[in-house]
Amino acid sequence: MDFEKILQELPAQMRELCGKGRVATYIPALARVPANKFGMTLCRVDGGCYSVGDSEERFSIQSISKVFTLSLAMSRCGEALWRRVGREPSGNRFNSLVQLEYEKGIPRNPFINAGAIVVCDMLLSHLSNPKQNLRDYLRVLSGGFDIDFDEEVARSEAETGFINYALANFLKGHGNLHNDVDEVLDLYFHQCSLALSCSELAQAMTHLASAGVSKRLGEALLTPAEVKRINALMLTCGTYDAVGEFAYRVGLPAKSGVGGGIVAVLPGEYAVAVWSPELDPSGNSLAGGAALEYLTTVTQRSIF
Ligand code: GLU
Repeated sequence: MDFEKILQELPAQMRELCGKGRVATYIPALARVPANKFGMTLCRVDGGCYSVGDSEERFSIQSISKVFTLSLAMSRCGEALWRRVGREPSGNRFNSLVQLEYEKGIPRNPFINAGAIVVCDMLLSHLSNPKQNLRDYLRVLSGGFDIDFDEEVARSEAETGFINYALANFLKGHGNLHNDVDEVLDLYFHQCSLALSCSELAQAMTHLASAGVSKRLGEALLTPAEVKRINALMLTCGTYDAVGEFAYRVGLPAKSGVGGGIVAVLPGEYAVAVWSPELDPSGNSLAGGAALEYLTTVTQRSIF
């Protein structure tokens, strides 16, 4: 498979989409990111990474961080997690309060905001220093040893995160948050503010393409069963309300974020990360989704 050639073709293919999506503005610090960025890195499980465009530039990974907090929670908290969070697609906005109300404070899945906030709560209860532990986990997974939170983005989220405060208070009211609301949200806003490049993200995802074994570290970080579950959740809940459309077009487990990043894996073959800040109406990167569709179409390889 000539991934090098396929990636080199992408920027030209994606150019016509420029200006057709919208950069997220509801977090003011994200609104300043230039719309015309495009980067992508693909790392094969048997060695070799291929990159194109702005693949070394760090961006706000936002909800992509939910894959890593879930991985940590699954390995540290075990099955207890699933008594407090569901595993079904939500079919609602990622920050819906209505659904949480009629489901009595049990979020549908760990990738909507309410679910990710419960995961943060569990990490606060199980880790000695959750923010640093999470940051270090990403550093080790990606090999980017100066990866850090973007404090400006975290502050911007806290200042405008009224709906997340509402969700956290609602969870607390239903007994599904054990720690202080402000502490939980501080961790949540910081995880969303983590800044990584496509090449760092693709590296950090390779263990999800190789049954839990990190290629870079040469060791197992998750069991094959945990990897199966995380990938199943990405496929069914990872791309907002467009999971069906995304599976139809791309055919890979994936997780997106409002910073314009998308990560995806083809188990046994590769992990890939793409970044383009303009979003489609469902909140997924417009050019990012198109690039992944192009990749699986020209290679004729997907999980299906
Ligand atoms: N920090 C964002 C929020 O809670 C995450 C959004 C996302 O990427 O889905 O609104």
